[in-house]
Amino acid sequence: MQLYADLHSHSTASDGVDAPARVSERAAAAGLAVYALTDHDSVDGVAEAAARGRELGIAVVPGIEMTCYVGSREIHVLGYFLDIDDAALRDHCRHFQRARDERAAAIARRLEECGAPIDIDAVRRDADGGSIGRPHVAKALLAAGHVATMQEAFERFLGEGKPANVPKPEVAPRTVVDIIRAAGGIAVHAHPALGDQFDLIPMLAQAGVAGIEAFHSNHDFSATNKVLEAAYARGLAVTGGSDCHGALPGRESILGRYGLDESRWRSFLRHVRGADAGFP
Ligand code: AMP
Ligand code: ZN
Ligand code: FE
Ligand code: FE
Repeated sequence: MQLYADLHSHSTASDGVDAPARVSERAAAAGLAVYALTDHDSVDGVAEAAARGRELGIAVVPGIEMTCYVGSREIHVLGYFLDIDDAALRDHCRHFQRARDERAAAIARRLEECGAPIDIDAVRRDADGGSIGRPHVAKALLAAGHVATMQEAFERFLGEGKPANVPKPEVAPRTVVDIIRAAGGIAVHAHPALGDQFDLIPMLAQAGVAGIEAFHSNHDFSATNKVLEAAYARGLAVTGGSDCHGALPGRESILGRYGLDESRWRSFLRHVRGADAGFP
């Protein structure tokens, strides 16, 4: 089925494979009318993506995927329609990117202790000034021959509870929601079924989250239905997207395969901005 909007994607501004302009090209090629670039703790790719989108006639929603925690549980909050030049947003991203860089070095030290050393400078070059994430490290483990697949890198070293798992800064949901809203954006709870976060929805709604992501590449049919029910029960908007990171080793690009059809996109717009939002 042809979808209208894919509201979750990553570029080289974080741990995606494709440059922002290339993500816009892939989105247009996938037949989408709208897509959102939502890099981890960064809006650095949005201007380039939007410029290429204008050339190709595809609407680009300025977005972000912000990291926060409740205790040791990591939550991702998507922000949409934000002013990417907002000073507080920029400050937070700069701080978080520095912390991610230090974290990558800490992960590298742990990997060395595990007997699986990687070249941290190569990881930094690969990230090229963007938000460094575990996928960058997983690629380095693959390149060094310590693992056979990216998945193995997470299963043995980088996943939760594994020896080289290092947390990111412990920001509270309220903090990132406030930053998104102060920048004129709306906040959405990303992929609630990952990590079984349904119990957190009331707290997040209380914190000011306006919607939840129902359609997602890692949500099966029953997870999607469970999110839809939670959204209807609480009057939250429904969103969806592929969470495409580009064509990673062992995984092709899935941009445009998950998201919203036109009628769901329209109800999302109505829900969060009013009908006349300047988006198609
Ligand atoms: P980070 O932001 O550095 O914590 O990395 C998070 C990213 O790593 C996610 O967006 C996924 O792309 C990837 N990731 C997390 N867990 C896994 C996993 N178990 N297998 C493969 N990729 C994963
Ligand atoms: Zn990612
Ligand atoms: Fe996420
Ligand atoms: Fe994501």
